[in-house]
Amino acid sequence: MSKQTLSFQAEVAQLLHLVTHSLYSNPEIFLRELISNASDACDKLRFEGLNNAALFEDAPNLEVRVAFDKAARTITITDNGIGLSQQEAIDNLGTIAKSGTKDFVSKLSGDQKADAQLIGQFGVGFYSGFIVADKITVESRRAGLPAADGVRWISGGTGDFEVETIDRAQRGTSITLHLREDAEEYLNLWKLKSVINKYSDHISLPILMEKEEWKEGENDQPGGMVPTGEWEAVNKASALWTRNKKDITTEQYNEFYKAISHDFEDPLTWSHNRVEGNTEYTQLLYIPAKAPMDLWNRDKKAGVKLYVKRVFIMDDAEALMPTYLRFVKGIIDSANLPLNVSRELLQESRDVRAIREGSTKRVLSMLEDLAKHDKHDATPGADGVTDVVDADDKAKEGKYSSFYAEFGAVLKEGLGEDFGNTQRLAKLLRYASTQSDTVSVSLADYKARMKEGQDAIYYITADNLAAAKNSPQLEVFKKKGIEVLLMTDRVDEWSLNYLHDFDGTPLQSVAKGAVDLGKLQDEAEKKAAEEAAEAFKPLLAKLKEALKDKAEDVRVTTRLVDSPACLVVQDGGMSTQLARMLKQAGQSAPEAKPVLEVNAEHPLVKKLDGSVHFNDLAHILFDQALLAEGGLPEDPAAYVKRVNALLA
Ligand code: ADP
Ligand code: MG
Repeated sequence: MSKQTLSFQAEVAQLLHLVTHSLYSNPEIFLRELISNASDACDKLRFEGLNNAALFEDAPNLEVRVAFDKAARTITITDNGIGLSQQEAIDNLGTIAKSGTKDFVSKLSGDQKADAQLIGQFGVGFYSGFIVADKITVESRRAGLPAADGVRWISGGTGDFEVETIDRAQRGTSITLHLREDAEEYLNLWKLKSVINKYSDHISLPILMEKEEWKEGENDQPGGMVPTGEWEAVNKASALWTRNKKDITTEQYNEFYKAISHDFEDPLTWSHNRVEGNTEYTQLLYIPAKAPMDLWNRDKKAGVKLYVKRVFIMDDAEALMPTYLRFVKGIIDSANLPLNVSRELLQESRDVRAIREGSTKRVLSMLEDLAKHDKHDATPGADGVTDVVDADDKAKEGKYSSFYAEFGAVLKEGLGEDFGNTQRLAKLLRYASTQSDTVSVSLADYKARMKEGQDAIYYITADNLAAAKNSPQLEVFKKKGIEVLLMTDRVDEWSLNYLHDFDGTPLQSVAKGAVDLGKLQDEAEKKAAEEAAEAFKPLLAKLKEALKDKAEDVRVTTRLVDSPACLVVQDGGMSTQLARMLKQAGQSAPEAKPVLEVNAEHPLVKKLDGSVHFNDLAHILFDQALLAEGGLPEDPAAYVKRVNALLA
């Protein structure tokens, strides 16, 4: 291949522009990204080498070398990993293959500050070299290809790049950064060492740098440090998770998290354990502080990497974590699995099942621990003693609330996915309620506040908090001071199909079935309700006839106080709100008609009987009930016409 000039894919050009214009506040990350790529390349070689030992050629020891040249103003990062073929250099360094990155680029707004924030959440990999360099030269040869099939790739980080064939005896990749003037501080052994220490200490390969020694000046020239030709490792070169917990600092845990997650923020918490028994493995699991942009994509790659005896096997091993815990990041290193394990094999492995169960339990206990310390209760307990809080507990305050705000809705998916942990999950749920605008009420809190004679946990689902709070179905509960949980997440109704009770108390939607307040209603109220139902029978029959296309049934209710009517669905049916949501999403929803419930005490209802406008009033009653819960009349124009006719 003779020298040719190719254009970057449009998204890359956009990304490059952003990198060079808004990432200068944290330039040193370029080294982390390039070392991480070098390490990935070595992992890939090790993995392919499992089936093809010849790939190691005559250099079985994998390593990364970092060198700099003051006079030429360059830094070169060299690895002897898998390398790049010519086509791979064109594809992998000129286009963005990962759909996640593409989505990311499409979200960029052009507003530098906002974009820099976004990019901070993302990590820019190879292109971060352009933060400090105005030209990058990549020379590489893929393991297994002849020396004549090397490739040189050069770019100034703007619209295009050059590629050509070169001879390269050495397997792997050298990346040379031609530094910008303002990045000269990196032409210094100590500076580079300190950056490597900060970000790349956990890398399990040796990162080598050439030692320097002091040389006295000659002929009136000042002395200085000069290279010795001797290379030494500047990192510990042992995988972080294999080290003893007490030898790892919080900062090192945090940096490791950032390296594997591409998150720029510290994690909320982590857990590092060696699990022994039939299945032996090490787990290092992190809960991020912020939800990624693609959290809602259930096909999104899981965040747990699989290692077998310290050899990297695969990213996003979905078999290791249930889908509802897809936000967890970390690594699992197993001693039981074979090195050549495939994704298919993972699905079937008994060891993998044991690891998944163990890891799920571990994540749940991390969450339980955060939940326990979320609010510090400063009031003395029954024994008159206030809990002792140590610094560790203090550091956990507020973390569960912040976790829940980011990931609570995903956690709820677990009710429909992980039946073995239903009650543990139920304890972790939090909702707003008629007594709390913030999403902080646990089912246990609710139970503790239940009224004498109350035998269900009441809830309502709605599109948003305001709609939930103003829902007519709540009226009688408000009047009687009974707390109702207000649920506004899309998954709420679906997930509650899987949670029938909490700790023996059933959960009951206030918008489903006939209202039965049981012992909460006194005898007089019950009697009045029965009498009203009896007296209203002829009117109900007329209403039912008038609304036979819209309502399944019409009945008198005790659940309303101020409103004339409301809609409810039959017990076990899908709420009108969920049905509406499904339709909006283009999915099919059962065409069940709701039940219209009327308030016998309301003047409008009383006026119905004998009215010459009976038919119009009946339809208005129904359509208003629909409007009140956030729906739209089937024929809005007809509704307006009817109301106007009455107004006139
Ligand atoms: P990521 O590492 O997340 O895949 P990068 O932007 O860091 O994204 O790198 C892009 C791609 O370039 C890598 O996926 C890999 O295919 C290739 N690459 C980068 N550095 C190297 C290297 N040192 N050796 C081999 N391939 C590399
Ligand atoms: Mg990378």
